[in-house]
Amino acid sequence: LLDVKAVAKAFSGNHVLQDVSFNVASGEIVGLLGPNGSGKSTLLNTINGFETIDRGAIRLAGNRIDGLPVHRVVAAGIGRTFQLPSMPRKMSVLEVAVAAATAHHGIWATLTRSAAARRTEQAALKKAGELLDQLLLAPVRGLPAAALSGGQKKLLGIVCALMAQPRLLILDEPTAGVHPNLRRDIVLALQALNAQGMTMLIVEHDMQFIREVCTRCVVLDRGRIVADCRPDELVRNEEVVRAYLGRAEEP
Ligand code: ATP
Ligand code: MG
Repeated sequence: LLDVKAVAKAFSGNHVLQDVSFNVASGEIVGLLGPNGSGKSTLLNTINGFETIDRGAIRLAGNRIDGLPVHRVVAAGIGRTFQLPSMPRKMSVLEVAVAAATAHHGIWATLTRSAAARRTEQAALKKAGELLDQLLLAPVRGLPAAALSGGQKKLLGIVCALMAQPRLLILDEPTAGVHPNLRRDIVLALQALNAQGMTMLIVEHDMQFIREVCTRCVVLDRGRIVADCRPDELVRNEEVVRAYLGRAEEP
């Protein structure tokens, strides 16, 4: 489904991604891991159109998406969440979820009066209600989105990404800083989504999460892919062990 080929990206001489190639097949949950600053979020930014690439190609279902603006990448079928989600102060949880769908279609259905716009809004409201329920936010749907806890904002970020009905869902550290109880719920929600056919690429530092949730994992170290293996193979992979433990031995 997603094919990243020989991608390179530098910020004023800082080579953050170097010859990065990997793919995500339909139905997979691929974990992307690596030390802080290894380029994980930058890689996600190049995939969803926030950043351009210097070299290489990114394809979704065979079609080039590198160089497209974010809204066209969303339309092509990629939804993503952010490492540190921020939410608008004056909109409720439900309004934020609905806006994610209407903004995606380029129309604020609530601001127009056409019958088609009303149907779009009705459909978005129904979908938002279902997703808020599935991601455990039904009880707080009327609260201001900015009033949610950090973990709940991560869940709302997932709802917003799903409102555009993506083929690939990309999550940046969905359980970082989340209490184990909510973490458990997030794991179950993601597994349920995958059982419904959702393909995912997830940046995550938590090895237990990766073992529980991911079918495969890709490891970045200083902008290069150093491993692409099953989660249970990670601990036996010398490159991975070096990426996580070996830095102190280097000059
Ligand atoms: P973490 O695990 O801490 O989230 P990460 O693997 O997501 O780290 P990135 O956020 O991708 O790392 O950052 C990789 C490197 O790229 C860092 O050195 C960062 O300073 C640099 N970088 C990222 N975005 C930019 C930018 N817009 N301009 C300049 N440098 C950037
Ligand atoms: Mg990051």
